[in-house]
Amino acid sequence: MPASATRVMFLGLDGGTQLAFEPLFARGLMPNLAALWRRAAFGTLRSSIPMVTPVAWTSFSTGCTPPVHGIHEFYYVETSDRTVRPNHAGRVRVPTLWQVLSAAGREVVSLNLPMTYPPPSVRGIVVAGADAPGRDWAFAQCPEFGREIFEHVPDYTHKIIWKGRPRKLDELRAVAARCSAVFRAQADAAERADRRADWSAMMVHFHNLDSLQHRLWPYLDVDETGVREKGWNEEVEGCLRALDEAAGRLMELASKRDAAIVAVSDHGFGPCKALVNVNGLLQKAGLQKRLAYGTRFRYRASRLRDRFRRWQTRHEPGGAGRRLPRSIDGQVGCDWTRTVAFAPFGQLSGCVFLHPDVASHADRADRMTAEIVELFREARDPETGDPLFADAFTVADQYGLDPESEGLPVVLAPSADGYQAQAKWSPFRGDLMRHDPNLPATHRMDGIVAIDAPDIRPGGHLLADLHDLAPTTLAMLGVRIPDRMEGRVLHEAFETPLPVRYGAGPILAADPRQEELLVAFCGGEE
Ligand SMILES: [Zn+2]
Repeated sequence: MPASATRVMFLGLDGGTQLAFEPLFARGLMPNLAALWRRAAFGTLRSSIPMVTPVAWTSFSTGCTPPVHGIHEFYYVETSDRTVRPNHAGRVRVPTLWQVLSAAGREVVSLNLPMTYPPPSVRGIVVAGADAPGRDWAFAQCPEFGREIFEHVPDYTHKIIWKGRPRKLDELRAVAARCSAVFRAQADAAERADRRADWSAMMVHFHNLDSLQHRLWPYLDVDETGVREKGWNEEVEGCLRALDEAAGRLMELASKRDAAIVAVSDHGFGPCKALVNVNGLLQKAGLQKRLAYGTRFRYRASRLRDRFRRWQTRHEPGGAGRRLPRSIDGQVGCDWTRTVAFAPFGQLSGCVFLHPDVASHADRADRMTAEIVELFREARDPETGDPLFADAFTVADQYGLDPESEGLPVVLAPSADGYQAQAKWSPFRGDLMRHDPNLPATHRMDGIVAIDAPDIRPGGHLLADLHDLAPTTLAMLGVRIPDRMEGRVLHEAFETPLPVRYGAGPILAADPRQEELLVAFCGGEE
């Protein structure tokens, strides 16, 4: 009999990786997840390009890759005024799993998933994730549920807890206690949401696993960078136990509701060997001119202007989390009269734009673009000779998109595992690479997936992409898969192939409520 499920419960394990899970399971630290893995079809889930939060989770929720869903980084360049702006749910070009299910008459529950702000109008409950501008904003789609949570689950937060690496054990203890409380609160919130919605799909996203690993990876003690320090490992392990307990409660809820379980991470994790200075690489190749003494004033002035405007809005009522457009001048400190290429944003990828004067001459633009691709392909760690980038390509060729009109970089260069490309770098430092003690570990390409459903074929045999999970979920639920979804159904996870039906899928219409929330978030068009 082919598999079918009436419901699917997603455990969003941000940054979850087999590199950590395997040894942690073996040490008995996460018994609930270990038990899930024993009965599930599991394996590698490749991340998106680049492997960063908004891109990866949008690929998960839309079943599409970046050129189709339209999210390529945390930020984009608004072509009308050449400002840098944050990406958000309103810019996703294809319907998400939540919208597809809602259009099919089903209810959804989504707690804390990134790129769900401003929330879409769907049946059920959507609580936005860390990119929501504030607590009330996170609950904008379900204010009544918000009031229930504020009153009964005060530890619940949409925010990221680990902002830096704790310096002292006392500080670690305090943040670890908070982190564990947040994991528990997320399970509480899920149980409460379950009483309010007759959900077909529920997602509970544990973002703080990612930030915990970024800051404290060595204390997981799962590879050659592992350390043991009295008190420290115990605190980190306590957080993992709390995460596992929360996951256990969700699995119990899933079993009570007869739901399939899909554990998913948006990317893997591993030690960060170095941060890589993207604009520095361009400078070294003569494609960007560093600020000379005496010209730094203009850069500092634009940064100050941006900062002052942000400070001003923070002190307006309701302005706590507003993210205003930023000037490109304030993002990149370089001598614009002698600069060919620059990266105004980008983490874990080089996002390279051409100076408008260069971009407007087709021949010169082509030559420079080819040179930039070559530069990133050739970039090596001087110590080991390892490549710093997994790839480098032109957005026009690879994606068939016009980067100029879409506000996209002309060249994208995703980081190689172990290196974190960064646009943000002090323009007064000339170094190309540095180790950041605050960031001992970072994202890797290979994440994890584990599926437990009727008719599952257990074992570690899956090799899938993030965008395969949306179509697989729809197939499990017997809902038509929109034709535009690029992912494939993971039939190999099951004893018998899933029955699959395709259809046109819902059409994204203008959503006035979403637009209203967006204006509050970004301060509108300025
Ligand atoms: Zn991360």
